[in-house]
Amino acid sequence: MSTTTNGRSYKAQKVIDRMGQKLTRQMVGSLAACVHCGQCTDSCHYVLSNPGDPTFAPAYKADRIRKLFKKHYDWTGKVFPKWVKAGTVQTDEDLEELKDIVFGKCTNCRRCTINCPMGVDLATFNRMARGLLCHVGIMPEGVEYVAKEQWEIGNQMGVLKEDYIETIEWQEEELQDEMEDPNARIPVDKVNSEIVYVINPREIKHDPRSVLDAAKIFYMAGADYTMPSEGWDMTNFGLFNGDDELGGAVAGRVYDKVEELNGKKLVISECGHGYRSTRCEGPNWAKKDIAFDSESSVITMLKYIKEGKIKVDKTKNPGSYTFHDSCNNARSCGLTEEPRELLSLVVDDFREMYPNRAENYCCTGGGGAMSMAEYRPSRLKSAKVKADQLSATGTKTVVTSCHNCVDGLTDLIGHYKLGMDVTQLVNLVANALVVDEKIEENRKIHSAETSATAAQ
Ligand code: SF4
Ligand code: SF4
Repeated sequence: MSTTTNGRSYKAQKVIDRMGQKLTRQMVGSLAACVHCGQCTDSCHYVLSNPGDPTFAPAYKADRIRKLFKKHYDWTGKVFPKWVKAGTVQTDEDLEELKDIVFGKCTNCRRCTINCPMGVDLATFNRMARGLLCHVGIMPEGVEYVAKEQWEIGNQMGVLKEDYIETIEWQEEELQDEMEDPNARIPVDKVNSEIVYVINPREIKHDPRSVLDAAKIFYMAGADYTMPSEGWDMTNFGLFNGDDELGGAVAGRVYDKVEELNGKKLVISECGHGYRSTRCEGPNWAKKDIAFDSESSVITMLKYIKEGKIKVDKTKNPGSYTFHDSCNNARSCGLTEEPRELLSLVVDDFREMYPNRAENYCCTGGGGAMSMAEYRPSRLKSAKVKADQLSATGTKTVVTSCHNCVDGLTDLIGHYKLGMDVTQLVNLVANALVVDEKIEENRKIHSAETSATAAQ
């Protein structure tokens, strides 16, 4: 390993130098404010699932990053280095150790944040630390792979444009069959639409049924919408790997396409980190003012029911259901009540999980954890608290508004043999759809109009 003149590895020196460029006032506040009271300790699912192991405590993990700040960027570390536990990284091995903490022992779920009386936001500077490591090429292989796909192909699952279009066409045929309407369309790149609908690549690659279910709902509502042929991936690995440039590039592609199509509103399908990235963080990363509205498809579906644009019959969804709040939706974006209201309209037996809303536990696959194969055993061990939370509801199905949570929950349900299913609101709403005369009439008029526009 080659080193700088001070004996530090080049990568370690780069991490320290770049930290100075990346620190924000919010991060400095969080790095300086911890009084080590320990109140956040029991808020972390890693701690609760690994009793007796202090290395999972949020403050312990935060201190692995904090010591660098104290040593290199805070006056207290220069005056009282031992007292404030200032420390550094010297070797690439030190960076590898840091990697195992910031990627392998924290999902950036922010549950400790809302339980900290000092307002310490570990997830914010944990993300920063991830970005510093990624910048010098130290990251889990899966994170590197997914980020590369999103940079180079434009979506995080490497879906080619022709496959995306082909899948939509396939779902359009399914829509025509199910609706018994040869004019039914899933429009692509229709200009001046009220809605531009963006999705998670998982829907194309592993769950095209979600595309069909959304199309059914738009069709029945007579919605003026389109899916874009480019910039359709609303997920954003920049949130997970701490790369603001990636975050800005991915979100920017979505915004640019909506503008190109002159869409009035961006509707984001059910994905926690995609919603947070595209609606909340993306404009800052992309350094762009957004001239159109955006909302979660959960809100769109709820509006359609409330406005009488679609009708639903909850008896079409028999069985018992609980709801899992995605950390990014609930804790970071406040999307807690609308999904419950919607769920209560489409199922009869809804039972809350406790704790819930902003206090809910992570699906344990958040923060990009599902892409980090090397940490899977530890992730599943740390999912014990989530498994207990799920089984205590006594329900058969867990509903969540996040594709990432679907995968995280499915994995732990299999591991702990809970025998539960996982589904999303779009699936339940589509399944509960009923047709009455007024809706049928609107639907036919709109279907003919959409078909005529598509033919032009
Ligand atoms: S992060 Fe907050 S709650 Fe946790 S030890 Fe520090 S001050 Fe206490
Ligand atoms: S952000 Fe979540 S996973 Fe990370 S330390 Fe805090 S509670 Fe634990």
